[in-house]
Amino acid sequence: MALRVGIIGAGPSGMAQLRAFESARQKSAAIPEIMCFEKQNDWGGQWNNSWRIGLDNHGEPVHSSMYRHLWSNGPKECLEFSDYSFDEHFGRAISSFPPREVLFDYIKGRVEKSDVRKYVQFNTVARFTSYNEDTQEFTVTVEDLNTGATRTHVFDKLVVSTGHFSVPAVPEFKGIKTFPGEVLHAHDFRGAERFAGKRLLMIGSSYSAEDIGMQAHKMGAKSITLSYRTAPMGYHWPWNTVERPLVTHFDASTAHFSDGSQDDFDVVVLCTGYQHKYPFLPSDMSLKSPNVLYPANLYKGVVWQQNTNLFYLGAQDQYYTFNMFDAQAWFARDVMTGAIELPSLAEREADIQLWLERLAALPDHDAEADYQSDYLRELIDATDYPSFDLDAVSQLFKDWMRNKHNDILGYRDAVHRSVVTGTVSAKHHTRWLNAMDDSLERYMQGPSQDVENGTLAAVTGTVTAK
Ligand SMILES: Cc1cc2nc3c(=O)[nH]c(=O)nc-3n(C[C@H](O)[C@H](O)[C@H](O)COP(=O)(O)OP(=O)(O)OC[C@H]3O[C@@H](n4cnc5c(N)ncnc54)[C@H](O)[C@@H]3O)c2cc1C
Repeated sequence: MALRVGIIGAGPSGMAQLRAFESARQKSAAIPEIMCFEKQNDWGGQWNNSWRIGLDNHGEPVHSSMYRHLWSNGPKECLEFSDYSFDEHFGRAISSFPPREVLFDYIKGRVEKSDVRKYVQFNTVARFTSYNEDTQEFTVTVEDLNTGATRTHVFDKLVVSTGHFSVPAVPEFKGIKTFPGEVLHAHDFRGAERFAGKRLLMIGSSYSAEDIGMQAHKMGAKSITLSYRTAPMGYHWPWNTVERPLVTHFDASTAHFSDGSQDDFDVVVLCTGYQHKYPFLPSDMSLKSPNVLYPANLYKGVVWQQNTNLFYLGAQDQYYTFNMFDAQAWFARDVMTGAIELPSLAEREADIQLWLERLAALPDHDAEADYQSDYLRELIDATDYPSFDLDAVSQLFKDWMRNKHNDILGYRDAVHRSVVTGTVSAKHHTRWLNAMDDSLERYMQGPSQDVENGTLAAVTGTVTAK
């Protein structure tokens, strides 16, 4: 009987797993029986975003945390598939920081070229999973969201690719109930236009706080205050943005900070992160981890320690994204088919511990980028995934972080070189700060029709094209 593989989630990670098997098929390897379940009506995961807040049309939690005017937050050259370049997809050089719709188009382009959509059951949510130790089989109960009918499927191998940036982590703040303005989590943020003229308090000091804060600046917010728990982000913020330490409590519209300062706000955005949640898995198969570069209990960041028939993709914090999911999917595929033989439980644990020890000692963000590059190198070396220059990508990450530090509003205007094709990206027709139309159509058009004179917000600093 052919190997039966179940994949839960058809975001970039699940799509990578489908593509990994398709790539083996093209090299005439036998491919397993594959079934992929996706609760949304299309693939793409986070990139297939929604205007809805809270629940979707089936009463399921809305998955995507993405929003209008979301442009890539890192250079596209750092996430490029090594077997499907941006040049191949778009037929010409594009800029280094495209908007969401453009990246969504790119990831769809690769899978649509192959015949893998037939494996995906859309509008189908995984509800429950059990594992039979004797037969070594998973039984997965899924629900067809269109009809409400449930059914079960049996698999030899199970891939969990449901992402971990969907279920908000929401801390409590004393007095926040008395705040008369709007309080929302970043997951429910859909666009900053309505923050024009408002005083915003962003709680958190990571990507969401920084990006939603700068979206608000772009759309004309009166002031943006970013409150950090451990350390300030330290960017050169625009004139209306400041960083403050942790909020101790609220008193109506006044927030009090741990340095004794206070201020009044109209809106509070909780950029307080996300939780790993796998409600369709029993607790002994469910990953419990903070958002870190190497979650414990996953050999090579992919194989579940206590049950090597279970795989997680994209479960770590991510410098790399699409190409890392590929490397993981190729590795998982080869473990499933037996092309990679796993070492013993103790040896796997020793390997995990080495990665964790190294993680604990990383001094800064540059070292984190190198760490994830080294992780990818191990995966790629073990498989036939087309290799690419990981040191060059590490350098791209470092250049990007430096540009961002120097010019938080302008780093997206920089150009970078592809390590896959050598192409230097095009300079985009409109600076990010002035680009008010994030559609694919507008992006691909020629010279600027957007406001280039900064009538909505002032451009600070300059970015030098490399
Ligand atoms: C606000 C935001 C901005 C980001 N910006 C960038 C960026 O600029 N560049 C970048 O490279 N990355 C960015 N990311 C990271 C992004 O998460 C990854 O690029 C990528 O989407 C992760 O892919 P994934 O497949 O692992 O998870 P997801 O994209 O989350 O996909 C998981 C899929 O699983 C499905 N699913 C979940 N539960 C079930 C279930 N029970 N049954 C069936 N299906 C289920 C979901 O519907 C979804 O389609 C951003 C993330 C967020 C939240």
